Amino acid sequence: MRISQELAEAMIAHALEEHPIEACGILCGPEDLPARVVPMENELDSETAYALEPAQQLSVWEGMYDRGEELAGTYHSHTRHEAYPSPRDVEYAVYDVPHLIICTKGGPVLRALASIEPACIAAAMASRSRDRPMCVCWRYPRSC
Ligand SMILES: [Zn+2]
Repeated sequence: MRISQELAEAMIAHALEEHPIEACGILCGPEDLPARVVPMENELDSETAYALEPAQQLSVWEGMYDRGEELAGTYHSHTRHEAYPSPRDVEYAVYDVPHLIICTKGGPVLRALASIEPACIAAAMASRSRDRPMCVCWRYPRSC
């Protein structure tokens, strides 16, 4: 997956807007190069966890299929922790798409986008860069 600067900035802006609550949303469009970011509501309104609000999820999914798009990825922010997936993140990663994490801990700066695939975390963290707030992500649960 490659993410355009525009979409990366949209996710970061959403994460900063919701800080210190975790932000969440999805990427739609071709899976290799998503076309659209859809910010969504964190039903848990929590600083340490998120869940998509079910009614909103239903309508967003319907809109996505109406447009002929596919789910390209999910994203959420970590406001207290680095961009490593929590055990809950791994448990809830039910869609076979890349899962991105944006860390807003410590100020309005993108710290990382990481794949949720545990085996790939080290590689994702190693590739992080403030100058280039994007990274290649890996599909979960495929090993890399
Ligand atoms: Zn998380």
